[in-house]
Amino acid sequence: MNDAVDMAELRDLYRELILDHARNPRHFGKLPAATHSAEGINPLCGDKLKLYLQLDDSSTITRAAFEGSGCAISVASASLMTDAITGVPAASAEQFVDAVTGSLSGSDEAGHEINDERLAKLRALAGVREFPARVKCATLAWHALRSALHQDSQPASTE
Ligand code: ZN
Repeated sequence: MNDAVDMAELRDLYRELILDHARNPRHFGKLPAATHSAEGINPLCGDKLKLYLQLDDSSTITRAAFEGSGCAISVASASLMTDAITGVPAASAEQFVDAVTGSLSGSDEAGHEINDERLAKLRALAGVREFPARVKCATLAWHALRSALHQDSQPASTE
């Protein structure tokens, strides 16, 4: 959005998907009926977002939305995430957070892989592993998701 992504940083195969979601983010805007929300900030890049979730009585995420501003990768990640978690039980969404952040950061020796089919498009973000400065852009929305599900009052920060 407000950031010229270095195309060399993105794998060709997934460039279109990332740019599509960055330019036309899905589920962008406020969610007035939200039951859960959280803010996320990535001071390193200046990415900011607010995530809204609507959970039903059985703790299934029935709607998700986000607003904010950030680089193309942070916006694409939030867009892909809100797509992926809609209709998903909160407990499964938590597992998504572990799988995606573990996979993208490469911090997990056991090697989290993004195996769930509902997360298939998130593999588009896996290329950021090679660019450590970009990993926090990609994981920001997921940290905010965890905060929202835990109803943390402090903004989720990547730092
Ligand atoms: Zn960023």
